[in-house]
Amino acid sequence: MSSTADHFGAKASGRTLKVAHLYPELLNLYGDSGNILCLRKRMEWRGITPDIMEVHVDDRPTFADVDIAFIGGGSDREQKIVCDKLLAERDELAAFVEDGGVLAAVCGGYQLLGSSYLMADEKVEGLSLVDLYTDHDDPRLIGNIVVESEVSPQPIVGYENHGGRTHLGEGVKPLGRVLYGHGNDGKTGYEGVLYKNVLGTYVHGPLLPKNPGVADWLISRALERKYGDGSLEPLDDTEELAANKVMYDRLMSGQVEES
Ligand code: GLN
Repeated sequence: MSSTADHFGAKASGRTLKVAHLYPELLNLYGDSGNILCLRKRMEWRGITPDIMEVHVDDRPTFADVDIAFIGGGSDREQKIVCDKLLAERDELAAFVEDGGVLAAVCGGYQLLGSSYLMADEKVEGLSLVDLYTDHDDPRLIGNIVVESEVSPQPIVGYENHGGRTHLGEGVKPLGRVLYGHGNDGKTGYEGVLYKNVLGTYVHGPLLPKNPGVADWLISRALERKYGDGSLEPLDDTEELAANKVMYDRLMSGQVEES
């Protein structure tokens, strides 16, 4: 991103959003931590103060004053460590979600939102925050992905790599429709989940720098919940949108060969 606060003449709005970054040392595949940088900058450019809290494995976080929680993806081993820890916070996280707290979860983190995740050799209990579950199959679903979603004016582009197959409960809304790639299970054509202000997705990339529309959806939802006004000053996303379009055009033209 080339933009700066000065460039946009951001004025202090007196507004603050607290972001909880869950387990950055364990769940950070394919640059997922870049999502936090992106949230931080897009808030700063608008004069919204980001208050970033890192939650580490032995912390006992409270979500009472959190506006946006983010959890990234990781290997099965790391995911298992995190899940055991997070189960202790389950009730508080559920209260946060039901109260409209904004939660973004990528891949391994997304799988943890459901009731269970079947690893290659073990079934792990999930947080049961959203009606979904994940089992496992071969081959892994790997490659570039493009998703059409109501949360973003541009198609969501990124990268997926998961053995898990996620199944949404009856009537549970997906994040969007797969235009290229695999998504939740490689069969239904759906990708991710949307529940209240929870956004779960298999899209790494990192997700938010590549898809500023998704970043702004999260920020806007959090502002709406906290201040009753989710309107956002537009930013100059010329470069981000050009990069998004290059990827979209390349993938949709059929010129890319995935392994
Ligand atoms: N361990 C999970 C899977 O393979 C998630 C991997 C990831 O976060 N990319 O399904």
